[in-house]
Amino acid sequence: MTDNLPDRSLRPEQTESLDGSRPPEFWSELNREVERIENPQTILFELFKRFADRAAIITSGQITGMTLVQMAWENRLPFRVCTIDTGRLFPQTYDFLELAEDHYGIQIERVSADPDTINRMVTQHGEYLFFDSQAKQEYCCKIRKVNPQERLLDTLDVWFTGLRRDQSEFRQQVPKVQLIDHQQRTILKVSALANWSNEQVWDYIERNQVPVNPLLRSKPGVAYYESLGCVICTTPIRPSEPKRAGRWRWQHNEENKKECGLHFSI
Ligand code: SF4
Repeated sequence: MTDNLPDRSLRPEQTESLDGSRPPEFWSELNREVERIENPQTILFELFKRFADRAAIITSGQITGMTLVQMAWENRLPFRVCTIDTGRLFPQTYDFLELAEDHYGIQIERVSADPDTINRMVTQHGEYLFFDSQAKQEYCCKIRKVNPQERLLDTLDVWFTGLRRDQSEFRQQVPKVQLIDHQQRTILKVSALANWSNEQVWDYIERNQVPVNPLLRSKPGVAYYESLGCVICTTPIRPSEPKRAGRWRWQHNEENKKECGLHFSI
């Protein structure tokens, strides 16, 4: 794939100012501009061209995130891909991230929690605290996922996510583009494939031979993984179940949104 690597010479000489002093009008105009762009690949092109490494796709290597990676790669602009390594991902996910790096000739940035913080949490609450209560599950997610992601967001002005509206009832409201507050400044959060269906994503993946984590390859009629998080907290689902039913399966609260806190701003 070497001859298809992104052309680094296309990196813009001057990117947007990084001083965080852009006025609110800048962001609302950008929001409107991106909202008007229909083609998700064009959105990636325009924002990576403009923001360079102040923009990134944050993905755990699932199908929508990988679709974004494929589109960004086809754009032949440098693009940044990051993942939150909780230290508890499936072995197949770690292998898959390496495979994706080889396939696209990229380096995926792994961001993880400070080991001392994890040790303190485990010493105080135990290795499997997430079984104790929803509050402790959220605490574990905060330490292993949310806090590292906050650090990552410190380095970004544009955050591409793989959120889609058909992923759960809670996510039906996912906007294609939104402005979020982060440490008293604004970040453009872009779910470029928000209105794509599962079928559309799979169709794109098959047509473009996008690499897929083998755990996500479903077999008709049997239990399979629809969405992958940490080992233990993620279980396979039956074809008739909601897509995020496999997350924290021991929690039965009807109001439970099956979210880990990475996307509270939906
Ligand atoms: Fe902890 Fe489970 Fe959340 Fe992973 S998904 S961070 S193991 S509670």
